[in-house]
Amino acid sequence: MKKIYSVCLLFALFACSALASFAQSAQKQPADSLWSVRLDEIRQVAAMIPGRRALRINVLKFAESRRSKKFSVQGAPDEPSVQARTVFQVVFADGTVMIDSGMDEQVHRFFGRGVIEPYYPDAAKQVERALRSARAIIITHEHGDHVAGVIRTPFVAELAPKTLLTRAQIQALESDPQMPEIKITPDMASHYNVVDYEKFLPFGPGMALIKAPGHTPGSQMVYVALESGREYLFIGDTAWHMDGVRLIKGKDAPWIQEDQAALLAQLEWLNELYRTEKNVFIIASHDDEERKELIAKGVLGDGLE
Ligand SMILES: [Zn+2]
Repeated sequence: MKKIYSVCLLFALFACSALASFAQSAQKQPADSLWSVRLDEIRQVAAMIPGRRALRINVLKFAESRRSKKFSVQGAPDEPSVQARTVFQVVFADGTVMIDSGMDEQVHRFFGRGVIEPYYPDAAKQVERALRSARAIIITHEHGDHVAGVIRTPFVAELAPKTLLTRAQIQALESDPQMPEIKITPDMASHYNVVDYEKFLPFGPGMALIKAPGHTPGSQMVYVALESGREYLFIGDTAWHMDGVRLIKGKDAPWIQEDQAALLAQLEWLNELYRTEKNVFIIASHDDEERKELIAKGVLGDGLE
């Protein structure tokens, strides 16, 4: 009897320690399980749809937020920094694709939180024209400064059917929008082109979408390889400034809620890409210094066509 008892105890102890180590490993997920994307996989997905690849990519800044750099990059000095509000235009020989849709002035004011910040109505008009003439519109994530342009617009009936929103983006916009102005109803949602995918989605010749929840649940990255061979990776707001990628540092902005572990795994991967892949241009939506530098180098065109 005693022997059976001690065997049982031993077994119970073993089960306990196995459980504990399982719990520990679940807690400390390796970065791999949070982010296991490889560039060669992305390139392969981007090559799935035959056809002529894009010729060039343009950027336009339509507004600015002025925030201390300490909010954009953990540990950065408390010094003034411009957050550019931007859209990107991928130009093919026979049409364009927009990455992000901008926002109207009212949503812009939300981000100023009481402070009036620069908004350029002429540039905003250009964004509207480019959205209307685009074949398709892709949204990096469901925050107001990226998505409001396809929700709060008099042309919503025209733009919605050619706007690709992911299921995760729709869910957030319906049930947990960043601000009340961009909340959509299920009826509104039914007008957009809603997609869902596990990891990658081939989008067009040389283009792929990469699921990247972290900054928001509906965040995705957009990869574009041009006909010239030059490659771009639009990371939306994974980092607000490229120093976040260079230093592997997240943001320090108490007003946003992010999945820190996922974000850090993404930043680690982006950092390696940044250091090793000189032909891949990683584009952070709000980095105004990077925008100017890449325009000067001819990597991004200045203004929309
Ligand atoms: Zn943003």
